[in-house]
Amino acid sequence: MRDVDKAPPDPAGEQRKADATEHRRQVSNALARLFGSQLMEIPFGPDIRTADRERVTLAAMQAGTPYIWGPALPRDLTGGRRGGIDLLVKDTTGYVPVLVVRHKTSDPGHGARTSPLSHPLPNGARVDPARKVRPQPRDQLRLAHAQRQLQAAGFAKHGRAMAGVIGMDADVVVWHDLEAPTWPGGRTALAEYDARFSDRLAVAGAAARGDEPLARPSRIVECKSCPWWPTCDVELKRTRDVSLVARGEDAIALRRAGVSTVDQLAEQTVGEPLIPLVGMPFDDAVILARAWLRDLTVVRRSERMTVPRADVEVDVDMESFADLGAYMWGCWLSGENVDEEPGYRAFATWDPVPSDDEARSFAEFWTWLTAVRLRARARGLSFRAYCYNELAENRWLLGSAERFKGMPGIPPVAQVREFIKSDAWVDLFGIVREEFLCAHGKGLKTIAPVAGFTWRDPEAGGENSMRWYRDAVGMDGNPPDDDQRRRLLEYNEDDVRATHALRNWMSSEEIKLLPFAGDL
Ligand code: SF4
Repeated sequence: MRDVDKAPPDPAGEQRKADATEHRRQVSNALARLFGSQLMEIPFGPDIRTADRERVTLAAMQAGTPYIWGPALPRDLTGGRRGGIDLLVKDTTGYVPVLVVRHKTSDPGHGARTSPLSHPLPNGARVDPARKVRPQPRDQLRLAHAQRQLQAAGFAKHGRAMAGVIGMDADVVVWHDLEAPTWPGGRTALAEYDARFSDRLAVAGAAARGDEPLARPSRIVECKSCPWWPTCDVELKRTRDVSLVARGEDAIALRRAGVSTVDQLAEQTVGEPLIPLVGMPFDDAVILARAWLRDLTVVRRSERMTVPRADVEVDVDMESFADLGAYMWGCWLSGENVDEEPGYRAFATWDPVPSDDEARSFAEFWTWLTAVRLRARARGLSFRAYCYNELAENRWLLGSAERFKGMPGIPPVAQVREFIKSDAWVDLFGIVREEFLCAHGKGLKTIAPVAGFTWRDPEAGGENSMRWYRDAVGMDGNPPDDDQRRRLLEYNEDDVRATHALRNWMSSEEIKLLPFAGDL
C-alpha cells in the first residue's frame, strides 16, 4: 500500500499536532526551570537519526540521569517494539514513563493519584481531594508500550508498573496503575495492550510476508480524517461493505450475524430486529441500507412533520475557538416587524479569546435578543429562536453568563437557563434527528443542501473556521487578517441562513417530495 494515493493531511489535525507540540515545548521549559541540569533533553531534528537518539537515551539511562526529556527508547527486537515517550523519570529502582498531552487527564472529584510537577515521581503521589482520573484509554496504551520497552531494556522501575500523564493544565502528574484491573472484564492496561499489540504485530507480519491479509477496512469514526480513506472507500464500496451504513462495533456485530453487505442489511425485515445495535436502532439501519442502495442522502420518517414556528423568528449560530471562548454570536431575524432591520447581524470580538471583550460581545448579543423577545411579546406576537445542535450554543450561553458574571449587560445564569428550557429555544438538530434518517450524517452541511441551500464559501466548515480564526486575530504572530474576519462573518451568516432555509423547507409542502421511509 506504500504507493497508493493518500488523502492530503487534514488541516485541523495538523493544527492539533502543532498545538500539541507547542504544549509539550512549554511543559519541557517548565521542567527545565524546575530541574536545571538534572534534566537532559535528547536531541531531536530531521538530521538526527533515530538509532542515534536511541543510543543517547540508553547512555543517559545508564548514567542514571534523573529526568530525560524526549527519549527514544532502546529498540525491543524480540518484542518487535520501538518508540519514544515524552519524559522518563528515575525512581529509586528504575525509570517510569510520563506522557505529556494536550487534553484533560482528570475531572473535578477525588481519588486520582497525583503529584506536583515539581516532584513528578510515583513515590510522591497522593490521593487528590479535588480530582478524579479520566481513564483516557489511548494514553494508558501508549504508556504500556513504553513500559514494555523499558522492561525489555532492563530499565523499568521494580514492582508495580506505574506511569504518569501531564495534561492540558500541566499543573500535576496524574498516575495510572498499569496493573490495576480497571479495564472492561477486569483486565489491566498492560494485559489489554499486550493483546492489542500482538494482534497488530500479526497483521503487520502477514503484510510483510505477503501472506493473506489479516486486516481489512471497516468504517469507523476516524476514517473521516484518515489518510488511507481513498483506498478504503473504494474497497468498501466494491464489496458493498455493511460498515458503509452501520459503522464501528455495529458493523462487526452485523457481520457476525451473517450480514456483511449493505444489500443483505437492506433485505432484513423492519420490525424484526436481528440483533441489537449500539449506534442506531436496527430498523433504522435497514431503512438506511435501502436508502443507500437508492443513493438517497435523506429520507423522512413520518408522513407529516411539525416544526414549531413563530411570528418573530431568530436563527442563532455561535462560533467558538476550541475550549477557549465564544467569539461570535450571529443572528438572522425574520418574521413580523419588531422595529429591527430583518436579516443578519453578528456580535463579535476580534480580541483573541479568552478576553474580556468576549463579555462585551456576549452582553450585546443577549441584550439584543432579549429586546426582540420583549418587543414581540409587547405586540402580542409569538417568538422563537433556533439553533442547530444546542449542546454547543447552550454550553457557551451558560458558560459565558457564568464566566462574566457581574460585568455590564451579562444576564444572571438563571435567566439564561430559563430561556434554554423554554419553548422559545428550538434545536433544529433534535427535530432533524427525530424526523429524518440520514445516510451521510446529520450535520447542517449535509442536510441544508437537501433543502436547496448552498454555502458561498466552498471551504466552509467548522474545522477550517478554526484556521481562519487564528489568522483573523493574528494568533500565530502575524498581523490580524481582515479578509479572514470577513470570511468568518460570511460563513456565520450562511450558517444562520442555512437553518432558516432548512426549517422553511421542512414546514413547506415540498417536504412531501422527499422519499418516505415507509415506502422504501
Ligand atoms: S478503515 Fe478507516 S481508519 Fe482504517 S485505514 Fe481505512 S480509512 Fe483509515
